[in-house]
Order: sequence, then structure tokens, then C-alpha cells
Amino acid sequence: MPHVTYLGFPRIGRRRELKRALESFWSGETPAAELLATATDLRHRHWNLAREAGADSVPVNDFSLYDHVLDTAVLLDAIPERYRALNATDPLAAYFAMARGVQTDTVDLPALEMTKWFDTNYHYLVPELDAQQSFAARTGKLLGEYREATAAGHTARPVILGPVSFLRLSKTTDGSDALALLPSILPVYASILQALAAEGAQWVQIDEPCLALDLDDTARAAYRTAFAALAAASGPRMLLATYFAALDDNLDLAVSLPVAGLHVDLVRAPAQLEAVASALPADRVLSAGVIDGRNIWLSDPSRVMSQLRTLASLIRDDRLWISTSCSLLHVPIDLTGEKGLRGSLRDWLSFARQKIGELRLYADGLAGDDRALTALTEQHERVAARARSSDVVRADVRSRLRQLTPQAAQRRSGYANRVVAQRERFGLPELPTTTIGSFPQTHELRKARSAHRAGKLDTASYETVLREEIERAVRFQEAIDIDVLVHGEPERNDMVEYFGEQLDGYAFTANGWVQSYGSRCVKPPVIYGDVARPEPMTVRWSAYAQSLTRRPMKGMLTGPVTMLQWSFVRDDLPREEVCQQIALALRDEVHDLEAAGIGIIQIDEPALREGLPLRRGEWASYLAWAVHAFRIAAGGVSDATQIHTHMCYSEFNDIIESVAAMDADVISIETSRSRMELLDAFTRFRYPNGIGPGVYDIHSPRVPSEEEMVFLLTRALDVLRPDQLWVNPDCGLKTRGWPEVEAALTAMVAAAARLRERVEAPA
Ligand code: GLN
Ligand code: ZN
Repeated sequence: MPHVTYLGFPRIGRRRELKRALESFWSGETPAAELLATATDLRHRHWNLAREAGADSVPVNDFSLYDHVLDTAVLLDAIPERYRALNATDPLAAYFAMARGVQTDTVDLPALEMTKWFDTNYHYLVPELDAQQSFAARTGKLLGEYREATAAGHTARPVILGPVSFLRLSKTTDGSDALALLPSILPVYASILQALAAEGAQWVQIDEPCLALDLDDTARAAYRTAFAALAAASGPRMLLATYFAALDDNLDLAVSLPVAGLHVDLVRAPAQLEAVASALPADRVLSAGVIDGRNIWLSDPSRVMSQLRTLASLIRDDRLWISTSCSLLHVPIDLTGEKGLRGSLRDWLSFARQKIGELRLYADGLAGDDRALTALTEQHERVAARARSSDVVRADVRSRLRQLTPQAAQRRSGYANRVVAQRERFGLPELPTTTIGSFPQTHELRKARSAHRAGKLDTASYETVLREEIERAVRFQEAIDIDVLVHGEPERNDMVEYFGEQLDGYAFTANGWVQSYGSRCVKPPVIYGDVARPEPMTVRWSAYAQSLTRRPMKGMLTGPVTMLQWSFVRDDLPREEVCQQIALALRDEVHDLEAAGIGIIQIDEPALREGLPLRRGEWASYLAWAVHAFRIAAGGVSDATQIHTHMCYSEFNDIIESVAAMDADVISIETSRSRMELLDAFTRFRYPNGIGPGVYDIHSPRVPSEEEMVFLLTRALDVLRPDQLWVNPDCGLKTRGWPEVEAALTAMVAAAARLRERVEAPA
């Protein structure tokens, strides 16, 4: 019978126990021992839960107090110099210093950089290396967790991030090539494998997600060298794990590596199944990732059973493992507690615990077990019922999409004409100032919102609080002389949830938490059906805000790609189509805002870049549909209506052409942290429309000075025309406090005024 396992489990706990324990430890309320006890307890609970759900073996060292890449750096003793003194006296404090920085009277240690884990919403800490880097094995955590699991009677498979992926995911502080460190890192990996073998580990899972990315010859050679060295170490049998993409042109390389087993993602990349199974030497284990570790839908037995039957015909029973596509880190833990889901939605979902149960059914079903086969038939019926449900497929939405013409994605005129109409309508000065949308979400505001949610504050009183907050924001912006105002978004908890709650086709879980980084979790909405907008979503608030001022009030929407990217998306329709449905709903909202007299409308797309496929060859088609969706949302307005967009969280240099193709009249874009690195893109590519490179880094409590912002704007003017430059912060201000915001925006307006004099002064 095939072996049932999974690549990793969520760490945070069903009730976010780890989050609570971490935050309480950080605030000094509880001692380290309590945090560590919670961690131990969670590990045991999760292993037991997996075993009870039917797993034959469990991964260990997939747990982390903060992040598994940081754990790997610690495992290899790749601790940057600045944390070493602290590490010598208090390793746990040093660990959290690397994760989140420390600032006290005596120490000031900034954290490591954080970035997205491939195309997920999980963020890892970027190890810092340099050419002189030395490594050493620090196996305490790894061996400790292995012992813990085996002592509790589990068949445990330690997981470590492989050497090539570790180096590729790291950065060097001296510009050297991280892969050049391979010769010094491999002996350390070898000694780790030997230590595991000495503990009695039969298998080790070596995660090499980078093996599914575009690789050059150097990287391929690195893989050969690395695995030859690891194989020579005579450690446990190695399961080489790839996920998130197809092996494709790296297949030959992958099957040539001297490992005992290969894991492939057959959810993201089902088409590789036969090629992998045929290319794999007969003595290898194939670990088939057939259950989606990235999404929450119950799998369709007709798809999975047919994949497994094909595999079973090509691979011997004892060499086939059935597993999740990737670690279950990216899904919530348990569906059992979700009592409030609408209609039949609960019958269609599967969280981490349920997914392991699914794997068991498939293994048993494949072996001909009657009970499993009956259960799979029933599961198939549930999946089929979902496809037929009138909640899921709506004729009105489908027919509207079919009737969509190419004109829908076109503004009436080109930018050159529109800008004239807009100048005339708004009469804005050169270098107009604006902000990105949100103003500080004060304690009072949050309190009012949660009281309202809990039914302790009636809607009328809650809305009075919101209206007062909006008025305060408007008066403030007028007082400091901002040109294009915002209402401040006090009514929004989250930029996706707020819209999702008002759209058909979206649902929300009670406890569907997924780790974003460290103790931070998100609860992504679930797009389960065709998306439609039953009624206007923001018009009331924007119109109210506009009624308070003669200055233009910008309407604020979250764009279709971001609405998609930050949700669990249905798996029965191409993402591109779901995105178009959202775009049409937003198009109606844009239309209603325009009709209500809102002349400037911003459609935020902070997640545009993170949706990029992992393989470059697939970028163009993604960018085409993503840009198209944005243009559908924005395309219906008159020339004199000014469409803005906003982007942040990533670098845009390599997709700037697509950003321009969105054809927004104005884009505000994050740049201040990188001191305007983005501007390099504009020396090679003339960005045509209005653009506001952020001059105020809102991620930091620091208040930038007027001079700094003048400097950044001056640099921007080296590559941008004065008539296209806008002045704004990097992102929304909701996480900041009012005093900083007042000081920073006042300085920003002054900086714009100074530059304006220069620009307008006759030469
Ligand atoms: N309009 C949103 C805000 O200001 C944009 C947030 C974002 O880009 N993440 O909060
Ligand atoms: Zn932003």
C-alpha cells in the first residue's frame, strides 16, 4: 500500500496559540519557558492529529517559532555579526532580534529583511551572508524535535531546507555570489545528515523548491555538486522535495540526482505526472503531491484517483508515497470548528487536518478498500454538487462576461486627451499632493468597530463615529493644504475583506487563519462562486466625504488582481475568469462613484506583482490578463474622470511596461525605502502617465524631513517630467499614529511647494 505523508504542517495553532504565546513573551508578560511549552504542546498536538487523520509518517522541524528559513540560518550558524554578542548570552533573544529587531536603551539591532516565500503570502527572513561566511552545524532544534516525535511514537521524517535553495534565498551583504559558498556549506549539511542518521532517522526531507524555478547552468551544476556531496555523507535516505511549479526543463537534472525519493507537485503541475514517473529510476520513491497545500477545496476523487491509478501503473506500490502538493503551512488547520459557513460551503472545503484524511482515503481506495471507495464516491458527489450549485454558477454573471467587448477595457481617449480634460476640471497645481487612502486607525476606531461587530454598538452610533472620523480627516487635509483628498477609510478593517463582505461569491471563515509572518496571520476570504455586486459598496462614504469639501475627494477601491491574490480562490474556474468577474463588479462601482460626482477614483493593486508566475516564461500571459482585468474595472469612465492606481510591497522595475499598460491616469508607487531605485526603470522606459513615487516610508515610525523629501523629488525630476509628477507617501497611513502623520504630511506639502517654485520659475 502507498505510504501516506505530508510535507509540513501549520505552526500557529488552531486558535492561534503560538501567536498569543509569542506576543505575550515579547511583551514580557510570560517567561520563555511558557512560550517553549506552548510550542512543544502544539507540535505534539499536530503530530497526533496527523496520525489520527491517517498519516503513516510525520515531518519534524517543519515547526518554527518564527520562520523556517531563519531556523535554517541558525542550524547552519549563519548568524550575522551584529547579533553574535547577543546570541552568545541569549540565543532566543538573538533569534527574535533577527526576526523582528530589538531596540532598547543599550541595544539597537535592526531585523533581517523579510520577503515573500515564492508566490505565497508567507514571508520569510532573508539570511545575510558574505564571501567570508563560515558555517557550522547547530543541530539542537532539529535533533530535539526529532527525538520529541520519536519518543512519542511517531515515524518522524526531519525536514530541512536544502543547500542550493538556502543559498539562493539568501542575500549577500558584499555583493558576492551566494552560490559560491556551496563548498563551505556542504560539509555542514553532510554533518547534519550524519547526526540525523546517528539518531536513527530513516528518511530526511530536503526541500529544494528552487529546483522548480528557471535555472542557469551554474545553478544546475550547483545541484549536481550539492547532492553528490550529500549522498556521500551516508545520512538517512533523502526525499528531495520540489513544489509550487513543474520541474519542466529541470526534470532530467532532478531525476539524475542521487537521492532515494523525489517529491513533485501534481496540483500546480499535473501535466508533469507521466514524464516524472517515467523518467524516475526504478529504485526511487515518488512522492506524489496530489492534495493542494495552497488551497482549501475538497479534492475531486475523479481527478486524484485517475492520477494515482496512472502512477500505480508505472510505479511499484512500495515506492509510491501519497502526499500534499507542498507544506500545509498555507492552509488553516481544521474545518471542524467552522459552524457558520453559508449553505453547503462547509461540505466543499478541506483544511490541513481534513486533507491528511483525504490522503488516507486515497491510499486505502487505491488498495481497494471498500469503505474508502464508498467514502470517495460520496466525496465525488459533494464536489459535483458544488459544480451544479446555483450559488456557484450564476447565469447573469456568465452571460455578462461573454458579452464583454474589447472596448470595455479601453478608455474613451488616450492619456494625452484625458489629461487635458482633467486639468480643466480639477485645476490642480503642478506636483499635486495626495495620500494613498487610509488615515490612522485609532484605538477608538478599532474599539467602535469591534463593539459594532459584537452587537454592542448600534449601527447608527457606529456610523456617527465613522462620519466624525472622516470629517476630521477632511479638515486636517484642508488645513495642511493637500490637493487631492481622501476620506481616510475608517470604515474598513481590511482592504480585501471590506469589499469581499459586500460581494456575492465571497465567504468568510471564523478561524481560517494562515501565517503571514511570525505571529502575524491573515484570514483570507473564500471566493466560492461567481462574483457579483448586489449594491454599491463605497459610494455612500465617498459622497459624504465629498460633501464636506470643495477640493476633489478621491474614491478608493481595491483592484481585481489584489482581490484575487489575497483570497482563497475557487479551483473550478481559471483565475483569469474569476478576476474578470471581480473586475466587472468593480466597474459598476466605479460607474456609480462617477455618477455620484466623485471625479478621481483610485483602484489599488498592491498585489499585482506578487501574482507573477514563478517561471518567467509564464509572465507575459499573467500580466496580460491582470492588466486587462484592471482596465475592465477602470475603462468605463469619461475622459474627465481621473483613474489612479497604487502599488507597493515589491519592485516594479522589471514589469514597468505592464504597469504602464494599465493606463491609469496616475499611479502612486512605493519607492522611498529603496531611495527611488525604481527610477532607474524610467531611464530605460519613459513612463507616460502621471506618477507619484512615494516620498514618505510609512512602514517606519520615523518622520522624514522636508529636505529628505525635496531630495527624493529632485531625483525623481531627473527622469520624470514635472507635469507628470505627483507627491505622496509610499502607502496608506492606517498603521501610523496621528502625530507622525501630521508632521510627515505637513513636511511633504512643504517639500512639494518648494519644488513647485523651482519647476514654475522661468528658466
Ligand atoms: N488604499 C489603501 C490604504 O491606504 C492601500 C493599502 C495598500 O496598498 N496595501 O490603506
Ligand atoms: Zn500600499
